[in-house]
Amino acid sequence: MKAVFIESYGCQANQADAERMEGQLRVIGYARTGNMKEADLILLNTCCVRETAEDKVYGKIGEIKSLKRERPELIFGIAGCMAQKEGEALLRRAPHIDFVLGTNKVHRLSQVVRKLEIRREHIVDVALGETELPDESEAPAVRRSAISAWVPIMYGCNNFCTYCIVPYVRGRERSRLPEDVLREVEQVVADGYKEVTLLGQNVNSYGKDHKQATFAQLLRQVDAVPGIRRVRFMTSHPKDLSDEVIGAIREGKHICEHIHLPVQYGADKLLKAMNRVYTVEAYKALVARIRRALPEVSLTTDLIVGFPGETDEDFREMLDFLREIRYDAAYTFKYSPRSGTPAATLPEQVPEELKKERLQQLMDVQNEISLAINQELLGRVMEVMVEGPSKNDGQVWMGRTRTDKIVLFPHGQEQPGDFMQVKITQPQTWVLKGESVE
Ligand code: SF4
Repeated sequence: MKAVFIESYGCQANQADAERMEGQLRVIGYARTGNMKEADLILLNTCCVRETAEDKVYGKIGEIKSLKRERPELIFGIAGCMAQKEGEALLRRAPHIDFVLGTNKVHRLSQVVRKLEIRREHIVDVALGETELPDESEAPAVRRSAISAWVPIMYGCNNFCTYCIVPYVRGRERSRLPEDVLREVEQVVADGYKEVTLLGQNVNSYGKDHKQATFAQLLRQVDAVPGIRRVRFMTSHPKDLSDEVIGAIREGKHICEHIHLPVQYGADKLLKAMNRVYTVEAYKALVARIRRALPEVSLTTDLIVGFPGETDEDFREMLDFLREIRYDAAYTFKYSPRSGTPAATLPEQVPEELKKERLQQLMDVQNEISLAINQELLGRVMEVMVEGPSKNDGQVWMGRTRTDKIVLFPHGQEQPGDFMQVKITQPQTWVLKGESVE
């Protein structure tokens, strides 16, 4: 076996791509190593969502230069979003890179590597073929977890939020056929996985291209796969989350009552500037429909502070919005301009110090809300899927509820992948501590 070192940055979609790439490499004789120095092949699977992410990769590319000088036979490639975005330019900047493989070309990796094993040349494959979809059946992904599997159901995004680079990099939405998704889900369940997370930038518009199934129909089909225990999905654009999907979650046996529903901002002026295409009122009405149908649901969100033009008054509106919606948790970000996106050139950029201050305020308010919501769970017995030992204490298990809350409880005989009934004894802001009642 030859050795491959893979370093992957960024979101779940990118991590899922890395698992698929590792699968292809395994078929052609590469096993993963954690030591870059002993690798025959080095692959950086990059992210370009923030400039700092790119800087990190450029640092790594520099580091690899001396390895390549010592061992010219080493194959070095860049994949992921930066590869897609920069293409040839990466080779001009760092000629020691052998290949650049775009996000749409993940499935071509093994061909590219084989070619390079025979003959050294520079290969750049980043064309955005709108209809091209990777065929996952030939080389099963090498997954990081043994109990929870990511399954991409669509690629790309049609939305053009003004701060986001994804649509320029990953191209338009392309959905996998329902039979391909189902085949993969059946396979992972047969392999012993308990949980499947369906992945896409905007899963709710699944199938709008090929019209073979809507997202709600796909959810119902996945829910019906014999042996599956939990079905999750992300991410949902609020404008596309239909009542049909809410109905599928309510009626599905295994579809978890957790919706990650990024609002990004809580005031119409900013939503408009971000091109999010919904209003605060429409979003609130959607949340009300969800909560009516799914009283146990947990809602999480993404929030951006410091978007160009944000005033104190807008920010106050955002805090009021947060207190009204009461998310279980929120992932908060400081806006950082991304060159190539419309928002980067907007006037009225918010000073860094102010962004930091607002971010802190936002987190303080959200933490209070998360804690209050979690405290309501004191004494409740919840179903927890054991994921593994907690990071800080090997004597404690870490697991998750269907509502995606992290639960810590003392180690017993159970194994990762087991389902436990756990009584919540000490709810905190980020985790629930408890004890098994079995
Ligand atoms: S929905 Fe908006 S934020 Fe999400 S990937 Fe598409 S353009 Fe980016």
